[in-house]
Amino acid sequence: MITELIIQGLVQGVGFRPFIYLLAREMNIKGTVINRNNGVLIRADLSEKQRKELIERISTEHPPIASIHHIEIRELPESTDQYTRFSIAASCSESDEITQIAPDIAVCDDCLNDRISQPHRIGYPFVNCTRCGPRFSIIEDLPYDRIHTTMSSFAMCPECRKEYTDITDRRFHAQPVACNHCGPIYYMTYRQKIYTDYREIIAITSRMLNDGKIIAVKGIGGYHLACDATNNAAVKRLRRIKIRDTKPFAVMFKDIGHLLPYVFLNEKEKENLLSRRRPIVLLKQRKSPAPDINPGMRTLGCMLPYMPVHYDWFQYIDSPVLVMTSGNISDVPIAVMPEEAEQQLGGKVDLLLHHNRPIRNRVDDSVVQVCNNRTCVIRRSRGYAPEPFFPDTPVEGILAFGAEKTNTFALGRKNTVIQSQYIGDLKNEETFRFYTESLAQFQHLFRFAPRYLACDLHPDYLSTLQAEQSASKNGVPLLRVQHHHAHAVACMGEHRLNEPVLAVVWDGTGAGDDGKIWGGEFFRCDRKQYIRLSQLEYIPMPGGDKAALEPWRSAVACLHHYGLPFPPAFTARIGQEKIDIVTAMIDKEINTPYTSSAGRLFDAFASLIGICDTATRQAEAPVLLEQHADEKCMLRYPVNAGENPVSCRSVLEGILKDMQEDVASEIIAAKIHNSLADLIVLKIKQLIKQTGIGKVILSGGCFQNKRLAETIEQLISTEKSVSLYMPGQIPCNDGGIAVGQILVAAARNDLTSKQVDE
Ligand code: ZN
Ligand code: ZN
Ligand code: FE
Repeated sequence: MITELIIQGLVQGVGFRPFIYLLAREMNIKGTVINRNNGVLIRADLSEKQRKELIERISTEHPPIASIHHIEIRELPESTDQYTRFSIAASCSESDEITQIAPDIAVCDDCLNDRISQPHRIGYPFVNCTRCGPRFSIIEDLPYDRIHTTMSSFAMCPECRKEYTDITDRRFHAQPVACNHCGPIYYMTYRQKIYTDYREIIAITSRMLNDGKIIAVKGIGGYHLACDATNNAAVKRLRRIKIRDTKPFAVMFKDIGHLLPYVFLNEKEKENLLSRRRPIVLLKQRKSPAPDINPGMRTLGCMLPYMPVHYDWFQYIDSPVLVMTSGNISDVPIAVMPEEAEQQLGGKVDLLLHHNRPIRNRVDDSVVQVCNNRTCVIRRSRGYAPEPFFPDTPVEGILAFGAEKTNTFALGRKNTVIQSQYIGDLKNEETFRFYTESLAQFQHLFRFAPRYLACDLHPDYLSTLQAEQSASKNGVPLLRVQHHHAHAVACMGEHRLNEPVLAVVWDGTGAGDDGKIWGGEFFRCDRKQYIRLSQLEYIPMPGGDKAALEPWRSAVACLHHYGLPFPPAFTARIGQEKIDIVTAMIDKEINTPYTSSAGRLFDAFASLIGICDTATRQAEAPVLLEQHADEKCMLRYPVNAGENPVSCRSVLEGILKDMQEDVASEIIAAKIHNSLADLIVLKIKQLIKQTGIGKVILSGGCFQNKRLAETIEQLISTEKSVSLYMPGQIPCNDGGIAVGQILVAAARNDLTSKQVDE
């Protein structure tokens, strides 16, 4: 019986066809395998038993980078097709429609081994195979062939070519295949001398790292700034080089063994650290390698080596841990080109280590955290992007422009949502250029012609303006999606919820449909629309956007709004004059919008108890408040969830009372978290009673707050009637907005019922 198996998922450019070929040969199956537009097609003569075994083995033994979304099985009518053997059919022009690109993958153990065993790869730093190495970062065009990557300028040597064309070789069709004879090299200028010998380079750079020097090193998706993480003077200097940056630095440990003295680690976290995606994992800290790495934080962003150069350094340096932070100055995108790096960092760092494999697509390190044993992606970039997400609905032709900060965009291709890598804050000029270039690149790569556009409701977001331009240029309809609805639907999409749900969306700020600024919302919603059942009470936001960077303004606004006394310590810190100016602004309604933002509330609390009066980055105060909270304290302030809108007055009063009684700020911070969790849970219960809906979503940037999310989950776990859903693979912050926009647009345009073009 001739059977067709159509395997959909990430199955191209990951060694899938050779895997099928070898498997079929082992199982004595006759037939053929071919790359098709929507996946890999196997056509084979199979008995019932063989078919079962083949599917089972494909599902369980496939190459590690591959991921199978769906296997479609079709019986073909008895045909004259007779297979005498199993073969790989050449992928033809059809491959033009390939819709999936593999993400960049950490160097694998086999390749590391080849660096000590294969004569042409001894010590070679750009070793890779079908199961590892760069992908997205080097792709210029599709189909994914070497000539369409930045490896095109490197001619394969005979040995590499032999491996590349041998189906039984691990490097069969590994597009970036390379060795000491033919591949990319590192180079650097040190003391007026140019070095290209890799062993010399490692010797010099290791010595410099040992001496506390700072090195900019070109990686897979951009430059890193590296220094010994246990050398606080070096770390301090690095902080000065990066300007104003108080952001915690990510660090790279030699291996798990060397990481354990510094952090607590559970199995799930370990699994993430070791995964081929090699993200930064936020871990609870035992001790910091140096105080200036992560001031005020109890978590440490950790990763493990993922390029040969990392492994080589750890062979020769004394320290078990390096700072590995993005190679940029403050907010600009990470440098990817040697000239860019020289211009930004030259003269500031002690050495720049370049390589000559161009980076076509910039990808930062990804960031995840494990929350109640669930992996939550916070920044989705290297190792993840542009791996698609498979929603339960067709999304063909939709382009979503995302939010403004923490931007990502997304496009819908047939049944897949392809999300861009992390772009960043569009208000930065260079980042905005990165955004428009990436938009163009994705549309080109995926042969995408937009039919529907989706953007945020906020009229001034740069992403909105970009969407408007695109709408008029392409003459296609533009749908404006309310920010918090997008947050909710992104989570619904991930969990394939298509029925009405209750959604608690707490985040920084987003434009509401009443002209006010939202951010502490309780919705009843489906994919198409939402009803705002409740919200946090509107509080003045004196200075508008300025309030987000000056949490003390929110503290003044809250106290003034509720007519509560200003704690003497707070007044002493801020100054009576500034407080008077802001209260006058509020009273006269000068540049003072109103907001239901939970983020501003966290700001107010953090400033009030002296954790953070002014912020240097988005959400700094809420993050510091979370980090400050005593871990064991179960105390809480009274809350009243019965009101609508929901007021946090009782929490504020509790804080003031505690401050008067000199309660430790760690305890107050803990009580704040416990109370807000109580408030959300009580409100959820009340809304379930009111609506009869038992499926509840938590989304929005505030739920990146692990303390808050875990406490809510704990409190609700005893409630049989509630099913709680949180984003995991799609970021709960604004990095997930584009996915929500796509799904809202799909639902509103009712694409499900329309014919989807093949
Ligand atoms: Zn490999
Ligand atoms: Zn070679
Ligand atoms: Fe948001």
